[in-house]
Amino acid sequence: MKTLRITAATAALALMATGVAAQERFITIGTGGQTGVYYVVGQSICRLVNRGEAEHGLKCTAPSTGGSIANINAIAAGDMDMGVAQSDWQFHAYNGSSEYEGKPVEKLRAVFSVHGEPFTVVARTDSGAESFDDLFGKRVNVGNPGSGQRATMEVVLDAMGRSMGDFALASELKPAEQSAALGDNKVDAIIYTVGHPNGSIQEATSTVDARILPVTGEAIDKLVADNSYYAKAIIPGGMYKGTDADVDTFGVKATFVTSADVPDDVIYEVVKAVFDNFDRFKGLHPAFANLKEEDMVSSGNSAPLHPGAERYYRERGWIQ
Ligand code: GLU
Repeated sequence: MKTLRITAATAALALMATGVAAQERFITIGTGGQTGVYYVVGQSICRLVNRGEAEHGLKCTAPSTGGSIANINAIAAGDMDMGVAQSDWQFHAYNGSSEYEGKPVEKLRAVFSVHGEPFTVVARTDSGAESFDDLFGKRVNVGNPGSGQRATMEVVLDAMGRSMGDFALASELKPAEQSAALGDNKVDAIIYTVGHPNGSIQEATSTVDARILPVTGEAIDKLVADNSYYAKAIIPGGMYKGTDADVDTFGVKATFVTSADVPDDVIYEVVKAVFDNFDRFKGLHPAFANLKEEDMVSSGNSAPLHPGAERYYRERGWIQ
Protein backbone atom coordinates (compact mmCIF):
# COMPACT_ATOMS: atom_id res chain seq x y z
CA MET A 1 0.00 0.00 0.00
CA LYS A 2 2.72 2.39 1.07
CA THR A 3 4.83 1.54 -1.99
CA LEU A 4 1.88 2.10 -4.31
CA ARG A 5 1.21 5.55 -2.95
CA ILE A 6 4.82 6.58 -3.38
CA THR A 7 4.83 5.28 -6.94
CA ALA A 8 1.69 7.28 -7.89
CA ALA A 9 3.02 10.45 -6.33
CA THR A 10 6.37 10.07 -8.06
CA ALA A 11 4.66 9.50 -11.39
CA ALA A 12 2.53 12.63 -10.98
CA LEU A 13 5.60 14.68 -10.09
CA ALA A 14 7.47 13.35 -13.12
CA LEU A 15 4.56 14.30 -15.39
CA MET A 16 4.39 17.80 -13.97
CA ALA A 17 8.12 18.23 -14.37
CA THR A 18 8.08 17.29 -18.06
CA GLY A 19 4.96 19.35 -18.74
CA VAL A 20 3.10 16.52 -20.42
CA ALA A 21 0.33 16.54 -17.85
CA ALA A 22 -1.99 18.61 -20.10
CA GLN A 23 -5.46 17.20 -19.68
CA GLU A 24 -7.09 15.99 -22.86
CA ARG A 25 -10.13 18.03 -23.87
CA PHE A 26 -12.29 17.47 -26.94
CA ILE A 27 -13.50 20.57 -28.73
CA THR A 28 -15.90 20.82 -31.67
CA ILE A 29 -16.37 23.34 -34.47
CA GLY A 30 -19.68 23.49 -36.36
CA THR A 31 -19.13 23.99 -40.10
CA GLY A 32 -21.51 23.55 -43.06
CA GLY A 33 -21.97 21.20 -45.99
CA GLN A 34 -18.93 19.28 -47.17
CA THR A 35 -18.88 21.07 -50.55
CA GLY A 36 -18.76 24.53 -48.95
CA VAL A 37 -15.95 26.62 -47.49
CA TYR A 38 -17.05 26.48 -43.82
CA TYR A 39 -16.13 22.84 -43.78
CA VAL A 40 -12.61 23.78 -44.88
CA VAL A 41 -12.46 26.59 -42.28
CA GLY A 42 -13.31 24.15 -39.49
CA GLN A 43 -11.07 21.37 -40.79
CA SER A 44 -8.16 23.80 -41.24
CA ILE A 45 -8.47 25.27 -37.75
CA CYS A 46 -8.67 21.78 -36.25
CA ARG A 47 -5.65 20.64 -38.22
CA LEU A 48 -3.56 23.50 -36.80
CA VAL A 49 -4.91 23.00 -33.26
CA ASN A 50 -4.28 19.25 -33.34
CA ARG A 51 -0.63 19.77 -34.32
CA GLY A 52 -0.11 21.21 -30.82
CA GLU A 53 -2.13 18.58 -28.99
CA ALA A 54 0.86 17.30 -27.04
CA GLU A 55 1.36 20.75 -25.48
CA HIS A 56 -2.19 21.93 -24.81
CA GLY A 57 -4.18 18.67 -24.76
CA LEU A 58 -6.91 19.96 -27.11
CA LYS A 59 -8.34 17.51 -29.62
CA CYS A 60 -10.39 19.33 -32.24
CA THR A 61 -13.07 17.97 -34.59
CA ALA A 62 -15.11 19.87 -37.19
CA PRO A 63 -18.14 17.88 -38.38
CA SER A 64 -20.35 18.87 -41.29
CA THR A 65 -23.55 20.66 -40.16
CA GLY A 66 -26.55 22.51 -41.57
CA GLY A 67 -24.68 25.85 -41.56
CA SER A 68 -24.77 29.21 -39.75
CA ILE A 69 -28.05 29.00 -37.86
CA ALA A 70 -27.51 25.36 -36.90
CA ASN A 71 -24.03 26.27 -35.59
CA ILE A 72 -25.18 29.25 -33.53
CA ASN A 73 -28.01 27.20 -32.05
CA ALA A 74 -25.65 24.32 -31.21
CA ILE A 75 -23.28 26.77 -29.48
CA ALA A 76 -26.19 28.32 -27.57
CA ALA A 77 -27.28 24.86 -26.41
CA GLY A 78 -23.73 23.93 -25.36
CA ASP A 79 -23.64 21.11 -27.92
CA MET A 80 -20.69 22.66 -29.77
CA ASP A 81 -17.85 24.86 -28.57
CA MET A 82 -17.31 26.94 -31.69
CA GLY A 83 -18.72 27.37 -35.15
CA VAL A 84 -18.68 29.33 -38.39
CA ALA A 85 -21.56 31.72 -39.01
CA GLN A 86 -22.43 34.51 -41.41
CA SER A 87 -21.87 38.02 -40.02
CA ASP A 88 -25.60 38.85 -40.41
CA TRP A 89 -26.58 35.88 -38.24
CA GLN A 90 -23.90 36.60 -35.67
CA PHE A 91 -25.45 40.08 -35.38
CA HIS A 92 -29.06 38.90 -35.18
CA ALA A 93 -28.32 36.09 -32.73
CA TYR A 94 -26.43 38.34 -30.31
CA ASN A 95 -28.89 41.23 -30.61
CA GLY A 96 -32.06 39.15 -30.63
CA SER A 97 -33.31 40.49 -33.96
CA SER A 98 -34.82 38.93 -37.10
CA GLU A 99 -34.93 35.13 -36.68
CA TYR A 100 -33.66 35.59 -33.08
CA GLU A 101 -36.34 38.11 -32.07
CA GLY A 102 -37.18 37.49 -28.42
CA LYS A 103 -34.45 34.83 -28.04
CA PRO A 104 -31.05 36.57 -28.11
CA VAL A 105 -27.98 34.37 -27.69
CA GLU A 106 -26.37 36.63 -25.09
CA LYS A 107 -23.40 34.38 -24.51
CA LEU A 108 -22.41 34.37 -28.21
CA ARG A 109 -18.85 35.66 -28.62
CA ALA A 110 -16.91 36.65 -31.73
CA VAL A 111 -13.46 35.17 -32.34
CA PHE A 112 -12.50 36.46 -35.79
CA SER A 113 -13.98 36.97 -39.23
CA VAL A 114 -12.82 35.00 -42.23
CA HIS A 115 -13.55 35.29 -45.98
CA GLY A 116 -16.31 37.26 -47.73
CA GLU A 117 -19.43 35.39 -48.82
CA PRO A 118 -21.36 36.85 -51.74
CA PHE A 119 -25.05 35.89 -51.95
CA THR A 120 -24.73 33.71 -55.03
CA VAL A 121 -27.53 32.73 -57.41
CA VAL A 122 -26.84 30.24 -60.19
CA ALA A 123 -29.54 29.65 -62.83
CA ARG A 124 -29.76 27.21 -65.71
CA THR A 125 -29.34 29.12 -68.96
CA ASP A 126 -32.43 27.40 -70.41
CA SER A 127 -34.54 28.86 -67.58
CA GLY A 128 -34.16 32.23 -69.28
CA ALA A 129 -33.52 33.93 -65.92
CA GLU A 130 -31.12 36.86 -66.15
CA SER A 131 -31.64 38.57 -62.81
CA PHE A 132 -33.01 37.76 -59.37
CA ASP A 133 -36.46 39.15 -60.29
CA ASP A 134 -36.75 36.57 -63.07
CA LEU A 135 -36.73 33.78 -60.46
CA PHE A 136 -40.31 34.43 -59.35
CA GLY A 137 -42.54 31.77 -60.86
CA LYS A 138 -39.58 29.41 -61.23
CA ARG A 139 -38.23 26.43 -59.26
CA VAL A 140 -35.58 27.59 -56.81
CA ASN A 141 -33.58 25.73 -54.20
CA VAL A 142 -33.78 28.13 -51.26
CA GLY A 143 -31.49 26.12 -48.98
CA ASN A 144 -31.86 23.75 -46.06
CA PRO A 145 -33.35 25.06 -42.81
CA GLY A 146 -30.40 25.88 -40.54
CA SER A 147 -28.29 27.30 -43.34
CA GLY A 148 -27.27 30.93 -43.54
CA GLN A 149 -28.43 31.27 -47.15
CA ARG A 150 -31.92 30.06 -46.32
CA ALA A 151 -32.25 32.60 -43.52
CA THR A 152 -30.74 35.42 -45.62
CA MET A 153 -33.02 34.47 -48.52
CA GLU A 154 -36.03 35.15 -46.24
CA VAL A 155 -34.60 38.59 -45.44
CA VAL A 156 -34.08 39.36 -49.15
CA LEU A 157 -37.60 38.27 -50.08
CA ASP A 158 -39.04 40.30 -47.23
CA ALA A 159 -37.10 43.38 -48.35
CA MET A 160 -38.53 42.92 -51.86
CA GLY A 161 -42.08 42.49 -50.54
CA ARG A 162 -42.06 38.89 -51.75
CA SER A 163 -42.30 35.47 -50.15
CA MET A 164 -41.34 31.85 -50.78
CA GLY A 165 -44.83 31.36 -52.27
CA ASP A 166 -43.78 33.51 -55.25
CA PHE A 167 -41.58 30.67 -56.50
CA ALA A 168 -43.16 27.79 -58.44
CA LEU A 169 -41.16 25.54 -56.11
CA ALA A 170 -39.00 26.41 -53.09
CA SER A 171 -36.97 23.29 -52.43
CA GLU A 172 -34.79 22.82 -49.36
CA LEU A 173 -31.91 20.69 -50.58
CA LYS A 174 -28.57 20.91 -48.82
CA PRO A 175 -25.58 22.49 -50.57
CA ALA A 176 -24.11 19.06 -51.33
CA GLU A 177 -27.27 18.08 -53.21
CA GLN A 178 -28.26 21.27 -54.95
CA SER A 179 -25.69 21.33 -57.77
CA ALA A 180 -26.82 17.90 -58.96
CA ALA A 181 -30.48 19.02 -58.74
CA LEU A 182 -29.64 21.97 -61.00
CA GLY A 183 -27.87 19.69 -63.46
CA ASP A 184 -30.78 17.22 -63.45
CA ASN A 185 -33.28 20.02 -64.18
CA LYS A 186 -35.10 19.46 -60.89
CA VAL A 187 -34.70 23.19 -60.17
CA ASP A 188 -34.08 26.27 -62.33
CA ALA A 189 -31.80 28.01 -59.84
CA ILE A 190 -29.88 27.50 -56.63
CA ILE A 191 -28.69 29.98 -54.02
CA TYR A 192 -25.64 29.77 -51.81
CA THR A 193 -24.01 32.35 -49.55
CA VAL A 194 -20.46 31.11 -49.88
CA GLY A 195 -16.80 32.04 -50.39
CA HIS A 196 -15.31 31.85 -53.89
CA PRO A 197 -14.02 29.90 -55.63
CA ASN A 198 -15.72 26.78 -54.30
CA GLY A 199 -16.31 23.27 -55.55
CA SER A 200 -20.07 23.43 -55.23
CA ILE A 201 -20.56 26.32 -57.69
CA GLN A 202 -17.86 24.83 -59.90
CA GLU A 203 -19.87 21.61 -60.07
CA ALA A 204 -23.13 23.49 -60.72
CA THR A 205 -21.64 25.50 -63.60
CA SER A 206 -19.71 22.71 -65.25
CA THR A 207 -22.40 20.01 -65.42
CA VAL A 208 -24.97 22.16 -67.24
CA ASP A 209 -25.10 25.52 -69.05
CA ALA A 210 -25.65 27.92 -66.20
CA ARG A 211 -24.84 31.47 -65.20
CA ILE A 212 -24.47 33.48 -62.05
CA LEU A 213 -27.21 36.11 -61.74
CA PRO A 214 -26.84 39.65 -60.41
CA VAL A 215 -28.69 40.46 -57.18
CA THR A 216 -29.17 44.22 -57.30
CA GLY A 217 -31.85 46.89 -57.11
CA GLU A 218 -33.47 49.23 -54.62
CA ALA A 219 -34.28 46.61 -51.98
CA ILE A 220 -30.68 45.37 -51.94
CA ASP A 221 -29.29 48.93 -51.87
CA LYS A 222 -31.43 49.63 -48.82
CA LEU A 223 -30.40 46.41 -47.05
CA VAL A 224 -26.75 47.31 -47.55
CA ALA A 225 -27.22 50.96 -46.55
CA ASP A 226 -29.14 50.08 -43.38
CA ASN A 227 -27.07 47.16 -42.08
CA SER A 228 -23.34 47.20 -41.34
CA TYR A 229 -23.06 43.41 -41.72
CA TYR A 230 -24.00 43.60 -45.43
CA ALA A 231 -21.81 44.99 -48.19
CA LYS A 232 -21.90 45.17 -51.97
CA ALA A 233 -19.98 42.23 -53.43
CA ILE A 234 -18.66 41.10 -56.80
CA ILE A 235 -18.23 37.57 -58.07
CA PRO A 236 -15.27 37.84 -60.44
CA GLY A 237 -15.87 37.09 -64.10
CA GLY A 238 -13.98 34.12 -65.47
CA MET A 239 -14.05 32.22 -62.20
CA TYR A 240 -16.82 29.87 -63.32
CA LYS A 241 -17.81 28.51 -66.70
CA GLY A 242 -20.67 30.49 -68.26
CA THR A 243 -19.96 33.71 -66.35
CA ASP A 244 -17.25 35.74 -68.07
CA ALA A 245 -18.03 39.20 -66.67
CA ASP A 246 -18.06 40.34 -63.05
CA VAL A 247 -21.43 39.84 -61.36
CA ASP A 248 -22.81 42.38 -58.86
CA THR A 249 -24.48 41.11 -55.74
CA PHE A 250 -24.27 41.75 -52.01
CA GLY A 251 -22.67 39.69 -49.31
CA VAL A 252 -21.67 38.99 -45.75
CA LYS A 253 -18.55 37.72 -44.05
CA ALA A 254 -17.97 34.28 -42.69
CA THR A 255 -17.15 34.63 -38.99
CA PHE A 256 -15.82 32.30 -36.34
CA VAL A 257 -17.86 32.37 -33.13
CA THR A 258 -18.02 30.69 -29.74
CA SER A 259 -19.72 30.96 -26.36
CA ALA A 260 -18.72 32.90 -23.24
CA ASP A 261 -18.97 29.49 -21.51
CA VAL A 262 -15.92 28.15 -23.38
CA PRO A 263 -12.82 28.66 -21.18
CA ASP A 264 -10.41 31.48 -22.08
CA ASP A 265 -7.40 29.19 -22.39
CA VAL A 266 -9.20 27.00 -24.95
CA ILE A 267 -10.02 29.93 -27.25
CA TYR A 268 -6.56 31.41 -26.67
CA GLU A 269 -4.92 28.18 -27.88
CA VAL A 270 -7.24 27.90 -30.90
CA VAL A 271 -6.59 31.50 -31.97
CA LYS A 272 -2.87 31.08 -31.37
CA ALA A 273 -2.79 27.92 -33.50
CA VAL A 274 -4.35 29.86 -36.41
CA PHE A 275 -2.36 33.09 -36.20
CA ASP A 276 1.00 31.59 -35.24
CA ASN A 277 0.65 29.53 -38.46
CA PHE A 278 -1.18 32.07 -40.56
CA ASP A 279 0.58 31.45 -43.89
CA ARG A 280 -0.16 27.78 -43.57
CA PHE A 281 -3.81 28.56 -42.78
CA LYS A 282 -4.14 30.88 -45.81
CA GLY A 283 -2.77 28.15 -48.04
CA LEU A 284 -5.54 25.73 -47.12
CA HIS A 285 -8.22 27.27 -49.37
CA PRO A 286 -8.09 29.83 -52.21
CA ALA A 287 -10.89 31.82 -50.49
CA PHE A 288 -8.44 32.50 -47.61
CA ALA A 289 -5.65 33.83 -49.86
CA ASN A 290 -6.30 37.55 -49.22
CA LEU A 291 -7.06 37.41 -45.52
CA LYS A 292 -5.37 40.05 -43.34
CA GLU A 293 -4.96 39.41 -39.62
CA GLU A 294 -5.96 42.85 -38.38
CA ASP A 295 -9.01 42.94 -40.62
CA MET A 296 -10.17 39.58 -39.30
CA VAL A 297 -10.05 40.93 -35.78
CA SER A 298 -11.73 44.27 -36.49
CA SER A 299 -14.41 43.70 -39.13
CA GLY A 300 -17.47 41.47 -39.44
CA ASN A 301 -17.78 40.91 -35.70
CA SER A 302 -20.73 42.33 -33.79
CA ALA A 303 -20.84 40.16 -30.66
CA PRO A 304 -18.14 41.00 -28.07
CA LEU A 305 -14.76 39.35 -28.64
CA HIS A 306 -14.13 36.28 -26.49
CA PRO A 307 -11.59 37.14 -23.74
CA GLY A 308 -9.31 34.27 -24.77
CA ALA A 309 -9.10 35.75 -28.28
CA GLU A 310 -8.62 39.26 -26.89
CA ARG A 311 -5.65 38.08 -24.88
CA TYR A 312 -3.87 36.81 -27.98
CA TYR A 313 -4.77 39.91 -30.08
CA ARG A 314 -3.43 42.17 -27.31
CA GLU A 315 -0.19 40.21 -27.23
CA ARG A 316 0.15 40.75 -30.97
CA GLY A 317 -0.72 44.46 -30.63
CA TRP A 318 -3.82 44.16 -32.85
CA ILE A 319 -6.11 45.60 -30.18
CA GLN A 320 -5.54 47.89 -27.18
N1 GLU B 1 -22.88 30.61 -45.58
C1 GLU B 1 -23.38 29.28 -45.52
C2 GLU B 1 -24.19 29.10 -44.26
O1 GLU B 1 -24.24 29.70 -43.39
C3 GLU B 1 -22.31 28.20 -45.54
C4 GLU B 1 -21.27 28.36 -46.59
C5 GLU B 1 -20.19 27.32 -46.54
O2 GLU B 1 -20.43 26.21 -46.08
O3 GLU B 1 -19.08 27.66 -46.94
O4 GLU B 1 -24.87 28.35 -43.91
